[in-house]
Amino acid sequence: MITEQKRILIVEDEVKIAKALTEGLKAEGYIAVPAFNGEEALFYLANDFFDLMILDVMLPGRSGIEIAQLIREKNNKIPILMLTARDSIEDRVIGLDNGADDYLTKPFAFAELLARIRVLLKRIKTENIVKLFFSNLEMDLLARVVKRSGKIIELTLREFEVLEYLLRHQNEVVSREMLARDVWKETSRFSPIDNVIDVHMARLRKKIDHGFSDQLITTIRGVGFGLKDSSVKS
Ligand code: CA
Repeated sequence: MITEQKRILIVEDEVKIAKALTEGLKAEGYIAVPAFNGEEALFYLANDFFDLMILDVMLPGRSGIEIAQLIREKNNKIPILMLTARDSIEDRVIGLDNGADDYLTKPFAFAELLARIRVLLKRIKTENIVKLFFSNLEMDLLARVVKRSGKIIELTLREFEVLEYLLRHQNEVVSREMLARDVWKETSRFSPIDNVIDVHMARLRKKIDHGFSDQLITTIRGVGFGLKDSSVKS
């Protein structure tokens, strides 16, 4: 039995299969969400949290392999269980090379899918990330310690949360709306906290970047914030 409900995204364009998987996983106690193409899947991933993703290779538009690649490029570590066509060894190899954690050949027994899901979820649990890195910045999530070039930086709880968010979204631009929603848990759009965010960001930047020649925390005018490693040429 599952104690905490795990969220599974199912990416499959064949409606019948998608429906069957969704219903079957729900019956097993999972929260299952179907997406019928890659674009939809990327949208769900950007806006919601999932513990695991079942990804069909054969999709209209971008293939499952391309979608897996895109997800890994964004540094998203979500476990991916890929569904491949029968006898297509090539798909399996390409899939595993491009970020899939496991694969299952169609047609498959539902019991086998459940077994693979359990294995992947367990593996992730033991591999839980305890440290986040960017350039010479290091965050230990267990010890709650932040270091830059080995030197400890004292942060307030909120500053720590903001920096953790930036580190977890290090290849994206983080908007004030994202910070308001995900860090401040501010759900009302009628109480703008942009000023509060800016003040925290200014303090955080001072603590992180003061005394260093390269500035890691950057402001993208009119959009938000991001981490930038100027020692890496893009
Ligand atoms: Ca398909």
